[in-house]
Amino acid sequence: MHQDIQEILVSEKEIKEITQRLGRQLSVDYEGKRPLFVGLLNGCIPFMSELVLKVDIPLEIQFMAVSSYHGGIKSSGDVNIKYDLNTSVQDRDVVIVEDIVDTGSTLSTITKLLLHRGAKSIKVVTLLDKPSGRVVDFIPDYIGVTIPPKFVVGYGLDYNEFYRNLPYIGVLKPDVYTK
Ligand code: 5GP
Repeated sequence: MHQDIQEILVSEKEIKEITQRLGRQLSVDYEGKRPLFVGLLNGCIPFMSELVLKVDIPLEIQFMAVSSYHGGIKSSGDVNIKYDLNTSVQDRDVVIVEDIVDTGSTLSTITKLLLHRGAKSIKVVTLLDKPSGRVVDFIPDYIGVTIPPKFVVGYGLDYNEFYRNLPYIGVLKPDVYTK
């Protein structure tokens, strides 16, 4: 697995510092609000687990699964809901937890959907932001780190469902795509 990585973009140590910083900020901003944290599966898993442990106020956890990529390395722009929340967001302060924002289509669609379902407020926290990939106007509220226009894997992010368990964010060697 590690030998397929050409370059490490965000190290384990940096990820730890990011989750600590974001966790502290969210604890302050949501004090007294009992937020509902909604993780977008499968990519959010490592980030969500580490982040919620750094948030020091009462919160609820829920998940949704949406798909935008179809196994490749380019976004299709389509968003399908594959697994939905099993609680109401009516009057809730929702914090969507995402691994990466690229085109912005996923988050812009989910944000509109949850507002339509009656959420009181919606903020988005993302580990990675790739603003160069935007096709819709979307600015995440909390950003771990901004990265260049590269396809990355690790810490939840996959290539054909693999590499999610790398403890850092990296770029694959080009020959991995032609295997
Ligand atoms: P968006 O709707 O912003 O284009 O896409 C968000 C989703 O696209 C992410 O949750 C992730 O699944 C996928 N994605 C976007 N950029 C990358 C990337 O560099 N690497 C991987 N593995 N997935 C990405």
